Parts: sequence; C-alpha cells; structure tokens
Amino acid sequence: MTDRDATVEDFRRIYDRFTAVISRYNCGNWCAPLNNGEPVCCTTKQAIPIVQKNEWKLLQERTDMWSRFKPYDKTSKQIVKDLHKDCLAIECRGARHCERDNRTMACRAFPFFPYLTRSGDFVGLAYYWTFEDRCWMISHLELVERDFVQEFVAAYESLFESDAGEYEAYKTYSATARRTFSRFKRPIPLIGREGGFYKIMPKTGEMRPAPRSEVAPLGPYRTERTYRAAVKDAGGTLPDGFAWPG
Ligand code: SF4
Ligand code: SF4
Repeated sequence: MTDRDATVEDFRRIYDRFTAVISRYNCGNWCAPLNNGEPVCCTTKQAIPIVQKNEWKLLQERTDMWSRFKPYDKTSKQIVKDLHKDCLAIECRGARHCERDNRTMACRAFPFFPYLTRSGDFVGLAYYWTFEDRCWMISHLELVERDFVQEFVAAYESLFESDAGEYEAYKTYSATARRTFSRFKRPIPLIGREGGFYKIMPKTGEMRPAPRSEVAPLGPYRTERTYRAAVKDAGGTLPDGFAWPG
C-alpha cells in the first residue's frame, strides 16, 4: 500500500477491469417504478456520487456526461460540506444518457462496499444498509453475478494497493456497519469474496456461513403482492414483461 492518493492512471486501470454487469436482470427496472421512473442509485435525490479529485480528472478527460453536483437543500448542502478535501460530489445526466464505460467506481459498485474485518481483512461485499427499503438488488443477493463479485474484489484490492487512505476509510465504514447492525440486533449480510452467503455477527465480528433461507427479500420486495402494492402507492407502472423472479 502507498501513502499517496490513487492517480488518474490507477483509476483508468480499475475502470478497464471493472465492467461486469451486476446481474442478468436489469435491476433498475425494478426499483424505478418506486422512484418516479428513475433507478434509485441514478438520482441525486437518493444517492449522490462522490469521487476523488483524480477520478474526477479521469471522467472529465473521457466524457461530458458528468458535472459538479449542485446542492438543492439543507441535507445535500451538509453532505457536500462534510466531504473530505480530496473528494467532490458530482451528478450525471441521468439513466437515459448513461455511458456504461464512464460510470464512476461508486456507480459500478453500488449497492455494495468492501467489508473489512476488525483486523483489516477484505472478506466480502456488504451493502449500504440505508437503501434496504429501495434497492431491489439488496433484496436479491442471490442474483448477483459471480463475475461481478470477482471484478469488485479485484477493483478494490487494486484501489487499496494504490491508496492507503481508501483502505482506512472502508475499515472505518465497516466498523460503522458493525455498530449499526448491532443496534438493529441482526447480522450483517455478506457476499463472500469467493462467492457464497455469510453473516457477520456485529458484536463479535465473527463471520459465519448463512443459509440461503436467511437471504430474504426486504421492504416492498418481500412478495409479489407487497411489490405490486408499493408500485401502485408510488403511482408507478410495473416493469416491462413483469415476471416475479422465482
Ligand atoms: S443497484 Fe439497486 S438502486 Fe441501483 S438500479 Fe439496481 S436495484 Fe436500483
Ligand atoms: S452514470 Fe449511469 S449508473 Fe452512474 S448514476 Fe449516472 S445513470 Fe446511474
């Protein structure tokens, strides 16, 4: 690991190798009907992409689809104000104009972050828990592709190798996950770095295999009935060719 920040070339190398689709399903088709027709992670009202300055330089070199994010309320102003000095918030032109090769690392990885144990081992993919009620993918961890998991792991290993600050940031964030799930009184669901499902016992940090039955859909995605009702409440329309995954 180095003490420097990841360079433009580091991000370019990571982008070139982190291209796998997250699932054979187009997950945005499932969450968009609950979010005014836009995929949840592609709207800054729900998720604001944060990049390091060198990642921003790379994006500006490759495309004009990104611009600096303009805060629109008290919360978004606070998010921007709290950013580390080496980071900035940006926004794209929206899902209809998405250029896959020019997505940020955050876009490629969402809804997952690299989970690190107390001793600092990168053991798998945990998800951003605040999106449990909106992100369909979080409710269908079994539909995450193996290639995606492998590329995710390689991408973050490469990032950590080039940038010790990122490694420390995710170590701290993983500790926050343990504290949060400890309050929730439930284990942290995890996709192992070699695949398979696990649970982290938040008080002890112990990692145990999780039976498939414990990886259950959440919130509006629990059943076809709850999903249909949530779409109706949101005034949305069901995905084209709607068929409940089974
Ligand atoms: S990752 Fe989650 S929030 Fe983003 S498009 Fe897929 S289901 Fe929606
Ligand atoms: S670049 Fe694509 S994946 Fe990323 S936020 Fe924009 S539309 Fe979504």
